[in-house]
Amino acid sequence: MIEMSTPAIEVTDSGRSVAIFGGTFDPIHNGHLRSAIEIKEALGVDELRLLPSHRPPLRGEPGAESRQRLAMVDAAIDGVSGLKTDGRELLRDGPSYTVDTLRDLRLELGSLVSLTVVMGSDAFNQLHRWQDWQSLFSLANVLLLHRAEHPLAANVEVTEFVEARRVVEASGLTAKTAGGFYELGLIQLPISATDIRQRLASGRSIRYLVPDIVADYIAEHGLYTQ
Ligand code: ATP
Repeated sequence: MIEMSTPAIEVTDSGRSVAIFGGTFDPIHNGHLRSAIEIKEALGVDELRLLPSHRPPLRGEPGAESRQRLAMVDAAIDGVSGLKTDGRELLRDGPSYTVDTLRDLRLELGSLVSLTVVMGSDAFNQLHRWQDWQSLFSLANVLLLHRAEHPLAANVEVTEFVEARRVVEASGLTAKTAGGFYELGLIQLPISATDIRQRLASGRSIRYLVPDIVADYIAEHGLYTQ
């Protein structure tokens, strides 16, 4: 008897794989950038897209405008092989729900491309509050990025849900179009955008915490001075 696989765990046959790394990127910093490279290498994806959130649903208004945050991401990864910027959330008004973004990405990529959404443990601990969170897994794989300063404390329902979807290796995600889950422990640079904004507000240097081109953009536009 031939068993039908469910679309959620369909094995990709397009050979193409895309991962998205969303965030406020207010501003993008070397912690994000170094992790982006390591995530791309661990998954073995063709492209990793950095996707700035237009209106993050679970946090306050960002310090820089969306188009400025997007411009900084663009500048930071310019010329880096395999890293791309995806500005699609800026085209939608209202809260930037990841589930809507993934639906939109599926329209662009089709159903046979392996799609993985990356989230840090800070985001994962709040997953049960995300809009239609279970549907994320029928649209994409989920890669959880451990962050030392945010120990895992996910909701029980989320924990049980992902346990059933866990794959044993990061590369196992790219073999699936959607529905897989993997936890990646990376050595991360202890840099945060909050700290960068605080340094700027108190007139301190942010050199070497962000690429020079991002520091120049911030200075030119007078961002985060209060
Ligand atoms: P803020 O301090 O404003 O909360 P942040 O520095 O945590 O910002 P975000 O834009 O909120 O940055 O993060 C986007 C994504 O990058 C999230 O998944 C987050 O977990 C991850 N991230 C943030 N900082 C780092 C870091 N230093 N190393 C690796 N990943 C990071």
